[in-house]
Amino acid sequence: MQSDFHIPVLKDEVVNFLMTNPMGVYVDCTVGGGGHAQAILDSLAPSGKLIGLDVDQTAIDLATERLKPYGERVKLLKANFVDLDKCLQVKGIEHVDGVLFDLGVSSMQVNTPERGFSYLQNGPLNMRMDLSGEKSAWEVVNLYPEVELVRIFQEYGEERFSTTIARAVIRARGFKPIETTKQLVEIIKGVVPKRSSQKTLARIFQAIRIEVNHELDNLWVGLDKAIKSLKPGGRIGVITYHSLEDRIVKNIFFQKAKGCACPPGLPWCVCGREKELKLITRRPIRPSLQEVAVNKRARSAKLRVAERTGP
Ligand code: SAH
Repeated sequence: MQSDFHIPVLKDEVVNFLMTNPMGVYVDCTVGGGGHAQAILDSLAPSGKLIGLDVDQTAIDLATERLKPYGERVKLLKANFVDLDKCLQVKGIEHVDGVLFDLGVSSMQVNTPERGFSYLQNGPLNMRMDLSGEKSAWEVVNLYPEVELVRIFQEYGEERFSTTIARAVIRARGFKPIETTKQLVEIIKGVVPKRSSQKTLARIFQAIRIEVNHELDNLWVGLDKAIKSLKPGGRIGVITYHSLEDRIVKNIFFQKAKGCACPPGLPWCVCGREKELKLITRRPIRPSLQEVAVNKRARSAKLRVAERTGP
């Protein structure tokens, strides 16, 4: 496996905004190569602990190696963050001091052609973060009906040539199954204007990846469980890389910071919803130009942080 090293995005900002208790327990829901996890551990006192989750066994292996020096203070689990509650239960932990999500794929995943995430390298149509997941990009590209492809390309890729591309995919797979990322790239390039083809490729690959990994549904569930797992005063930090993810984070944070969800005009609250969060960042934190210059992945990153309210 080619392992192009992954540079953690907004590392100092994550540490500064997330950490409130040096003796606390922190969860990295997307531990990846362990970059953020290491920064968190370094800022903790010797009694502070970290739990790391990732759906990708390769990521868990890499993080295990990297975080070995921290010994028993680190527990890593191959798990989806939708199961955060169960993971904490297994470890006998009820509440935590902070939770981090650094969404999307790691440089290790993107730069491994066999994983099929990149439109710049040829590989099988896979795109599963969890290699034991039931559905890969192959099934989406070769078996989904045209209307479903159009929906995915539109909803998850916000791509204006969605219909044209879906039709081209259906036509091509009528001759023989589409097996590789390169074949898919050629099909897309064949029907969209050359000047916009790179952006279109990025959007279509993003759309298929979101569908394969249920990324947006997982995010709703994962965020909800993470907020429930926080101690009062504990913080949640989320780094997103595109507007669909950021919108979900923003909506959940604002909703939970507002509490009452009654329609305006009612004389008193009937929903009874309490505030669960206080916003620490009203606007998302963006990386500096210097950071973007050395780490291309940081380009579109946005960090939002909120704090659990309550007694
Ligand atoms: N912060 C990490 C990099 C994270 S990259 C570092 O500094 O090294 C994003 C990681 O999230 C990937 O390894 C991916 O496999 C993982 N991931 C994505 N969705 C996930 C989910 N639902 N549950 C657990 N891990 C997930």
